[in-house]
Amino acid sequence: MAQPPVLTAEQRAAALLKAADSRKRRAEIKAKVKSGELSVDAVLEIAANEDCINKMRVRELLEALSGVGKVRAAALMERLNISPTRRIAGLGRHQIKELRNEFMKIPRAISPGTLLVLSGPGGVGKSTVASRLRASGDFWVSISATTRSARSNEHDGVDYFFISDEEFTRRVRSDDFLEWAEFAGNRYGTPRSPVEEALRVGRNVLLEIEIDGAKQVKAHLPHALLVFLEPPTWEELVSRLEGRGTDTPDRRAERLQLAQDELAAASFFDLVIVNDQVERVVEQLIGLTS
Ligand code: ADP
Ligand code: 5GP
Repeated sequence: MAQPPVLTAEQRAAALLKAADSRKRRAEIKAKVKSGELSVDAVLEIAANEDCINKMRVRELLEALSGVGKVRAAALMERLNISPTRRIAGLGRHQIKELRNEFMKIPRAISPGTLLVLSGPGGVGKSTVASRLRASGDFWVSISATTRSARSNEHDGVDYFFISDEEFTRRVRSDDFLEWAEFAGNRYGTPRSPVEEALRVGRNVLLEIEIDGAKQVKAHLPHALLVFLEPPTWEELVSRLEGRGTDTPDRRAERLQLAQDELAAASFFDLVIVNDQVERVVEQLIGLTS
């Protein structure tokens, strides 16, 4: 076997310096991916011109995406037939195209409408704000699919598409959802094609979804504007959940428990708005549209 070349002390020092620079540059790119500043597409472009990024593992890039994580990254790589140790440089043309498609479903250039994602703890008033925005005509509001059963005041196809667990799994496998997440023991997902169609024709689109879903949307569509709705006080949140009267005491307690984690996620969002008066929030959100 050929022996590796013997390096002088100077050459070794230079090689170490280069390796340290490469690690620093890769960390910088991953931080930008995490914050949403760089899309997968942008990183693939950088990789074409920068050797140290081209040598980054695909897994590292995907795991850096907020809301993707190790499990989803592994599942995605398996679905796209990318081996777990593959580096960007080793991706085939077809795999690059599939990765681009996966994360750039709607290029900004053909999406003049604003994609607004509204999240916040249960009971803060998201549905109330969403229905006012729908009524205003300024937004097309996505209707999610869910495995939870309808509340007495809800209607299939209006508030949600209420579907079975089996149907939800089938739709996840067919990649029908732009994002989906589990919340309080049920699954919720945003049907992909109506959102893409509304954006394609230039409408402002509103998704009223929980935090994990919001992060997934940002990872796929970095231009999405993430808005977090906060209650004026914790007591007011408790009182709104009680006042709504749609949950059993056990379920309410579970939702309040979840709300504490949800409130801690506000810093990830582009904008935090306190829902003191519905009208004021609605006006502010309409003001964000281009
Ligand atoms: P979410 O969709 O976030 O779970 P809802 O829209 O169902 O919350 O609102 C929970 C309760 O709080 C409802 O009874 C609603 O009428 C009430 N509510 C919403 N916004 C306000 C507000 N700004 N002031 C007072 N009550 C509100
Ligand atoms: P609820 O059961 O109170 O209607 O909704 C529970 C949570 O699920 C809320 O935070 C709501 O915003 C969220 N949710 C509703 N639809 C979707 C969806 O399509 N995707 C995700 N990720 N969350 C959703």
